[in-house]
Amino acid sequence: MNRIKGNITNYTNFIIGRFDKDNNICTKDRIVYCTKKPLITVGIQGYIVPKGCAFKTNKPLLEIEGDVPFKNGDIISISAEGIVSLIWDNQSPHNALYVTDICNSKCIMCPQIECAQPRYNECLKILDHVKLDSNASIGITGGEPTLNIDKLVEILSKIAKKSPKQQVHILTNGRLFKNLDIVKKLASVKNLRVSVGIPLYSDIAEEHDFIVGVKGAFNETLQGLYNLGRMGINIEIRTVILKQNYTKLKDLAEYIYRNLPFVSKVALMGLEYHGNAETNYNLIAIDPLDYKHELFEAVRQYVRYNLLVDVYNTPLCLVDSRIEEFCRDSISTWKKSYTEACKSCIKKEICSGVFETSFKHSENIHPIKTIQNQ
Ligand code: SF4
Repeated sequence: MNRIKGNITNYTNFIIGRFDKDNNICTKDRIVYCTKKPLITVGIQGYIVPKGCAFKTNKPLLEIEGDVPFKNGDIISISAEGIVSLIWDNQSPHNALYVTDICNSKCIMCPQIECAQPRYNECLKILDHVKLDSNASIGITGGEPTLNIDKLVEILSKIAKKSPKQQVHILTNGRLFKNLDIVKKLASVKNLRVSVGIPLYSDIAEEHDFIVGVKGAFNETLQGLYNLGRMGINIEIRTVILKQNYTKLKDLAEYIYRNLPFVSKVALMGLEYHGNAETNYNLIAIDPLDYKHELFEAVRQYVRYNLLVDVYNTPLCLVDSRIEEFCRDSISTWKKSYTEACKSCIKKEICSGVFETSFKHSENIHPIKTIQNQ
């Protein structure tokens, strides 16, 4: 869980700070969890208190019911609605800046709940608070991060200044990169290792456009991919697997090999049943066990073509064991969970598990007890 809600008083504007249960006075900009007003309040941005423990203060104070799920040092924010969100976990390799809620596509399986808020300025503030490790990749996600390319470049430049040579992976639908000037702006940021993750769902334009919910999206994305390739930007193609495209995975591998040989790698991805994917469950859902053969064949095809391929978000018990080495522990730490069956599974340590955020999980998940019974 990365979010809790409570009753807020004295709120003036967006608060961001370091969560601190011990009121360590050496920590600046801290949001302190306490049951009574601390003696020393210098550097405190706001308070979180259990219900019934509110005290007099002119700083923001949030009263909550139940436990706080945050650790000392986590960077959290508090909104005007009293929602506390975990925005940076210093111990996680999966931190991301969520730069906007707004998107120009309407994918049938998008897990994001649609709002209409840009968050670029919040992310610039977040960067003032976080420690960056140039060896761990930072994600940039949305909505569609390229909708305000100037703000995106401002964020990237700030990262480059704070942590030169930082790895940054931008998740984008790639459509706006059909404009070469936008790609040039992205490429103008120096001292950063930037890669982009761009979805391609089918080798047939109409099928891709149906999944994206926008006519012409396939052609725009392809133009974007060629412009990115021309400017030497690292590209990962991302293919979410659903009922509409699982039989075509091998054809798509063929298409990518023939038409996009400059991409660095391909990710084949299981679904997170949240947002639109929950609403459209009956239309799009397919159990990984039911596309086990197609996934195996697609991976084999990428390997034949010497293209790097990873399988994301897919439990090991649902894949052909011959492609286990391609399966990544890919679900962000705060979204990852395991089922009851996982308790006795020998592969738990290396398995991606399941999305905690999915409203439903595969009924075919079963513990792997021995190397053979997969
Ligand atoms: S039982 Fe759980 S841990 Fe084991 S492979 Fe399946 S999902 Fe992964």
